[in-house]
Amino acid sequence: MKAHDGMYIDGDWRPAAGPDVIEVVNPVDEQVIATVPAGTPQDVDTAVGAARAALPGWAATPPAERAARLTALRDVLVARKDEIAETVTAELGAPLPFAQAVHAGLPIAVAGSYAELAATHAFEEKVGNSTVLHEPIGVVGAITPWNYPLHQIVAKVAPALAAGCTIVVKPAEDTPLVAQLFAEAVHEAGLPAGVFNLVTGLGPIAGQALAEHPGVDLVSFTGSTAVGRQIGATAGAAVKKVTLELGGKSANVILPSADLAKAVNVGVANAMSNSGQTCSAWTRMLVHTSRYEEAVGLAREAAAKYGDRIGPVVNAKQRARVLSYIDKGLAEGARLVAGGTESPREQGYFVSPTVFADVTSDMTIAQEEIFGPVLSILRYDDEEEALRIANGTLYGLAGAVWAGDEAEAVAFARRMDTGQVDINGGRFNPLAPFGGYKQSGVGRELGAHGLSEYLQTKSLQF
Ligand code: NAD
Repeated sequence: MKAHDGMYIDGDWRPAAGPDVIEVVNPVDEQVIATVPAGTPQDVDTAVGAARAALPGWAATPPAERAARLTALRDVLVARKDEIAETVTAELGAPLPFAQAVHAGLPIAVAGSYAELAATHAFEEKVGNSTVLHEPIGVVGAITPWNYPLHQIVAKVAPALAAGCTIVVKPAEDTPLVAQLFAEAVHEAGLPAGVFNLVTGLGPIAGQALAEHPGVDLVSFTGSTAVGRQIGATAGAAVKKVTLELGGKSANVILPSADLAKAVNVGVANAMSNSGQTCSAWTRMLVHTSRYEEAVGLAREAAAKYGDRIGPVVNAKQRARVLSYIDKGLAEGARLVAGGTESPREQGYFVSPTVFADVTSDMTIAQEEIFGPVLSILRYDDEEEALRIANGTLYGLAGAVWAGDEAEAVAFARRMDTGQVDINGGRFNPLAPFGGYKQSGVGRELGAHGLSEYLQTKSLQF
């Protein structure tokens, strides 16, 4: 695994403007594995300048040619998928099979989907006596988190490039190595210089400089609601478009007619996946009173299966945060049925897969995003109460409904205030729009809906 000591700007690795570095730590053994430069506002300015200079040429490149470059990029990611998985395992701690299947597999699927969309999307349409042109919005400033580090970069870069935009990416501090690997892949794929640029650095310095830069036309941010709110305010003041993919507290609603064992097992797997560090994770399981204790027993067994198979959380601060939520759950009277604050290993930022029963909607652990392997099981007496609980948070990113009859599940899902709902364990679809209702965000990612965020319209009347 290679770490670059420069920034990928204007088609080359260039020395960073400042001397500071960020240490990258393996969360499994707490060892420093690499350093990358901590970008300054000057690096951001250079990168935005390169993206702006490259914009006219890339925006004028025919969509079929943009599609060809994206196909080449997807092919490089495929060729380097083992390296991608090993890098994410090293800097995020994800177990290798999960890193291979998801952290490498998902970005490949998304890059492929945008290679196709770039070739097939209607960048012009007729509306009565008008022709509407869908034009690239300009220079994109993308700020990404660490939890699915390559996926979140690709979910912004691929649609931006498909649209004809140029981009500067500021990846998360904890996971800059896979971002550097991605920059190498962009280079290998033959993208013109300046179309993609990477500035590693700290959020409040490099991230903020990017969000505030007057040369950026669209800020695309994925991360916490707290930072998203700040970025939204900055963009609003500059009358600049912003997309925000923020936190979640999604409900897994198990209706009385559901296949309980399946719903609980899939639900626990979903909540524990990526050590619970998934914004769309179903961290609240809602079960009818009549089947509540049975569900709790099944969840306890399912959580025990994860035992030592689960990876660590990303860093010491995140681990302390997750443990403080477990303490809060205990203090507020929830019943611990699996896991707890005791670490399953001596070294590394591990947290035991934890399940709480007797959680009520007013408890902190039922309201706030924990971002660790902690599942809350709540009880309801009728569907109206289930709906009140499901919709009773500030968030609305994802969710699930299980019922014996699909139509019954769909009827419930229609009433949920959330951006995505899986019906009876529905499969992931990389073309389906992903994004939040309420404080889970603004805008959508993936598929044609994600592409449209990077386009602006011009209408010609005849
Ligand atoms: P974070 O908000 O702390 O950081 C996200 C990114 O923002 C990082 O690159 C960071 O360096 C940068 N940043 C931090 N402060 C900044 C500032 N003042 N100005 C500009 N940039 C700044 O979030 P995190 O802890 O890295 O990620 C976890 C959060 O991300 C969770 O809340 C999770 O729900 C959310 N998330 C949401 C989605 C989604 O699609 N909705 C996906 C993944 C993660």
